[in-house]
Parts: sequence; C-alpha cells; structure tokens
Amino acid sequence: MGQFEGKIAIVTGGSRGIGRAIALELGKHGATVVVNYNQSADAAEAVIAEIKAAGGDGMPFQCDVSDADQVIEMFKQVTKTYGQLDILVNNAGVTRDNVIMMLKPDDFDKVIDTNLRSAWLCSKAASRTMMKQRSGRIINISSVVGIAGNGGQTNYAASKAGLIGLTKALAKEIAPRGVTVNAVAPGFIGTDMTSELSDEIKETAISHIPLGRMGLPEDVAKAVAFLASDDAAYITGQVLVVDGGMVM
Ligand code: NAP
Repeated sequence: MGQFEGKIAIVTGGSRGIGRAIALELGKHGATVVVNYNQSADAAEAVIAEIKAAGGDGMPFQCDVSDADQVIEMFKQVTKTYGQLDILVNNAGVTRDNVIMMLKPDDFDKVIDTNLRSAWLCSKAASRTMMKQRSGRIINISSVVGIAGNGGQTNYAASKAGLIGLTKALAKEIAPRGVTVNAVAPGFIGTDMTSELSDEIKETAISHIPLGRMGLPEDVAKAVAFLASDDAAYITGQVLVVDGGMVM
C-alpha cells in the first residue's frame, strides 16, 4: 500500500515540468491527484492517464489560480467530489525576466499574481478544509532566487521571497490545527521554464552548482513527497533547498 493511499492532493500547475513530476510522484504512492492547469489541457490529461496507468486516480482541473473566483470554485468542486483535502502543492508559476528599467508594471503584477497571490488564494481555500479535518500539508514551490536574489528577476524574486514569508506566517497560524506548511526552493531545474535560456546562461548556472548538473523535476518531486508524508509530521515553516548545493 502506498504511503499516500486514501489521500487527496491538489497540485497547481501540474500539467508540465516540476508540477507534473510532483503529481506523478504523489500518484505513484497512492494519492488521488487533482492536476490543475491553466492552458495545457492535453498535457494535464496525459498526466492523469499516466497516474491511472500506474494504478492511481485523479482528475485534471482547469483553473487560473491567480483568479479568486476560479480558485474558490476549484476547491468547492474538489471537496464536493472527494469530501476531503490532504495535500496542496502551490507550484504554478511564470517568469517575465528583464532588468528593472525594461520591466513594465504589468510584468510585475503578472508574476506576483501567478506565483504568490495564487498560493495565498489556494492556501486560504485549503485551510478551511484542512483545519476542520485537523490535518493537512501545504507545500509552496519557492526558488533559491527568493533567498539569494538574481539580477533580471526582481519581480520573480519578490514573488518567491513572498512565498517564504507566506509559508512561515501560515505555518504558525495553523499548526495548532495539525496542518503543516513548508516551502521547497529549487535551484536550476530542467523544464520548459529554463529551456528558453541561452546556452551561455545555462553553462554559467551549471558552473555554480557544486553537484555539477541541472536538477531534474523528479529531484524536486521527491522533496515535496517527503514533506507531504507522515515522516515530516514534525516539520513546519521550513524551506527545503533542492539545488545541488548552488546556494548555501
Ligand atoms: P513550467 O514548466 O513553465 O510549468 C509551469 C506550470 O505552471 C504549467 O503547468 C502551467 O500550466 C502552470 N501555470 C502557469 N500559470 C498558471 C495559472 N495562472 N494557473 C494555473 N496554472 C498555471 O515551470 P516549472 O519549471 O515546472 O516551474 C514550476 C514551479 O517551480 C514554478 O513555480 C517555478 O517558479 C518554480 N521553480 C522552477 C525552477 C526551474 O529551474 N525550472 C526553479 C525554481 C523554482 P499551463 O501550461 O496549463 O498554463
């Protein structure tokens, strides 16, 4: 029997990249996984098909997680369908990179809304159910950039640092109800998000990674699965860095 047997999980942005790997990892160990997506319907369907082929269960769910009404509706539907919610992974994220002089206010708002506001909205909706249950796990996908900063990513770094503040404040607030809240801060991971970068930027980034390679989405997924598991019951308000030693 898998360690997440009988658990219901929502992974935001579960259609591609790191979110996809997290959904597959939780599904592989028995969780029923709601694979949230915004635009990539076929990819989300494919993740669910893969989970089902491995003996698991779940459903894709379209929702722009930066939209408050859509988020409320998604959580309403999920709790109506499954009657419980055990794991929320706030993973959906975007970048709009440029030097501050070139960034527009819309580039700031888009990144903050998709990466940070979304996590606050989803955590608010999930907390209601989890506090009633007196159990639950919320895991926010931050970034090492939220810890160390990175030129050209003022908007993104602000969103990812914000996620760490959210993680700690909510961890303190809902720990008495048996819900833990943690963050995972990935380094440089091979996904669509990083495939857009030039070879030069990639090579420079890898040269700063002591373990000498980019991370795999699965490297992040294993850390998330640990924080979602019973083994992490006494861990809350923490940031687990998964970056091959890049930031320490
Ligand atoms: P990715 O391959 O670009 O995938 C992004 C995912 O987010 C997609 O599934 C996308 O779904 C979803 N998404 C975007 N906007 C959304 C919205 N408004 N509502 C719902 N879903 C939305 O990115 P990734 O590299 O896997 O990154 C996943 C997370 O890890 C992000 O938060 C990112 O900041 C973080 N991270 C990544 C790295 C890295 O090196 N890759 C490092 C540190 C942190 P649709 O396609 O359906 O829109």
